[in-house]
Amino acid sequence: MPENLMEKIVSLCKRRGFIFQGSDIYGGLANTWDYGPFGVELKNNVKRAWWKAVVYERNDMFGMDAAILMHPKVWEASGHVSSFADIVAECKGCHKRFRIEELFSQEVINQLNKKDIGGDTSAFTSLDKAIVVFNYGLRTERPKCPECKAQDFSQAAEFNLMFNTNQGLTKDDKSLIYLRPETAQGMFVNFLNILDSRHPKLPFGLAQIGKAFRNEVTPGNFTFRTREFEQMEIEYFVKPDDADKKLEDWINERFSWYINLGISAENLRKRPHGKDELAHYAKACTDIEYNFPFGWSELEGIANRTDFDLKQHAKASNKDLQFFDDATKERFLPYIIEPSGGVDRSVLAFLVDAYHEEQVREETRVVLKLHKDLAPIKVAVLPLLKKKTEIVELAKKITQDLKKSIVTVYDDTAAIGKLYRRQDEVGTPFCVTIDVQSLDDKQVTVRERDSMAQERISIDRLKEYLNNKLTNI
Ligand code: ATP
Repeated sequence: MPENLMEKIVSLCKRRGFIFQGSDIYGGLANTWDYGPFGVELKNNVKRAWWKAVVYERNDMFGMDAAILMHPKVWEASGHVSSFADIVAECKGCHKRFRIEELFSQEVINQLNKKDIGGDTSAFTSLDKAIVVFNYGLRTERPKCPECKAQDFSQAAEFNLMFNTNQGLTKDDKSLIYLRPETAQGMFVNFLNILDSRHPKLPFGLAQIGKAFRNEVTPGNFTFRTREFEQMEIEYFVKPDDADKKLEDWINERFSWYINLGISAENLRKRPHGKDELAHYAKACTDIEYNFPFGWSELEGIANRTDFDLKQHAKASNKDLQFFDDATKERFLPYIIEPSGGVDRSVLAFLVDAYHEEQVREETRVVLKLHKDLAPIKVAVLPLLKKKTEIVELAKKITQDLKKSIVTVYDDTAAIGKLYRRQDEVGTPFCVTIDVQSLDDKQVTVRERDSMAQERISIDRLKEYLNNKLTNI
């Protein structure tokens, strides 16, 4: 891993037009990020690759795109209003607030959860219990403030992560509405609509990509933790008896997806949750984690949510959400397996994993070895002699022709060495150069990004050659 890798990624993203600070000319709005020309291509390619793998290549999945604004009762039924909160404590030295996970390692949290903290806690909600455990931990473990190293914290308190806003003209309780903190609920509440319109058999799933909003206590690490982000979520409905097996299948399937798109196996791991760590609705959960420069961190969580969500919504909406099994004539609430990943976190992991510095002769070559399906630009056409009009014309003609089926750019704004470096830095898999000889022999040079190997290809065969090398999605 190169030194200061995160700084290098952030700087490359800005310099080359992948990701900019949000509201930059106003001094920036902290922890907001805007995807620029290459960033949006990379992000769209990640989403396309996900959709292809989880919808198009399967026979049991349906796509969806639900509204961000949902009935406030959805968030009451789901438990978000009462308990979608972080437990935070304020450092008395620097007055910064921290989440429990920032003050204690997961091992310590697990140990604290197991401790008998005295009194009768049986009537406590999981949030109440977490507060008591956190306060106990602050007293006994005396963690150091990550900012100022003081060891004195205020009593822990809960902090709800949902963004509130008001709908319509009035600003009273009745107009209160939330920005969704996850896309999942849009799929649970459409379960009946899918049954009635598509008549699927179990198991089947819904897939959705969309924005989610959380008023995070401590956003940071570039796009890793932000208050506005995009999720790629699946809700997979199964017979309760099949849930354990399907959970394993999805964990393996999702793990392979990252590997197939080029993430190195040693930088990816599965982390099953301990019993104490599980959310109140989950029976089991495994995180897929990536070895970011700031440590192993969650890319995606895959959980067995049991029939919790359908049960809650059936109760709150007064609708029968049971599945009728034609074969056995049974009615029951299916269990749900939920693979829930972040688009922005995946994009960041793909960028980090692709970043390479290589010594080529005396120079350092920076190259993004992105999987060809993810690369923002697939081909760059570069004329070797800008002054010769025939070369420029031929290069532009070839560009226009390739553009019809391959994402291609034309660039003649520098000498060839510099043009190659630019394309390497944004991960373009192939560069096509047109030289004087091309005018005679009707051949061009194709240079491959990673090996830098060059091959002469006849212009007639160029599109077919490139199409074969690239998987267009
Ligand atoms: P964390 O523990 O890191 O806060 P989480 O367990 O709360 O994440 P989930 O509720 O499981 O996250 O959300 C599913 C996925 O959504 C996460 O795996 C992550 O990829 C993405 N995600 C969640 N919160 C954020 C955020 N604040 N910024 C960017 N992506 C996020």
